[in-house]
Amino acid sequence: MPKYCSVPNCKNDSGTGTDRKSFYKFPLQDPARLQQWLRNMRRENWTPSRHQYICHEHFAPSCFKVRWGIRYLESNAVPTVFQEAEVKPKEAPRGHIVKF
Ligand SMILES: [Zn+2]
Repeated sequence: MPKYCSVPNCKNDSGTGTDRKSFYKFPLQDPARLQQWLRNMRRENWTPSRHQYICHEHFAPSCFKVRWGIRYLESNAVPTVFQEAEVKPKEAPRGHIVKF
């Protein structure tokens, strides 16, 4: 079953491409850290399920340790690498839906 990254604007999933992507589950057992993750993702009001993942691209290299060629996520790692949130055109008045 393919895994998908739950980060807005991130299109990574495990089913496409040939480059290796790593997917990590959310720290559901650690609510404090989970909140940090969600805050960084700007999805604070969202609760991931145990079947949702975040891809390795959102973690700084220092979040990983490599042992025997296998990359592990540090147990206290928090994702900090996110694309800028989509910038809405300044011309559009706030709260208005522009119809074409
Ligand atoms: Zn991602």
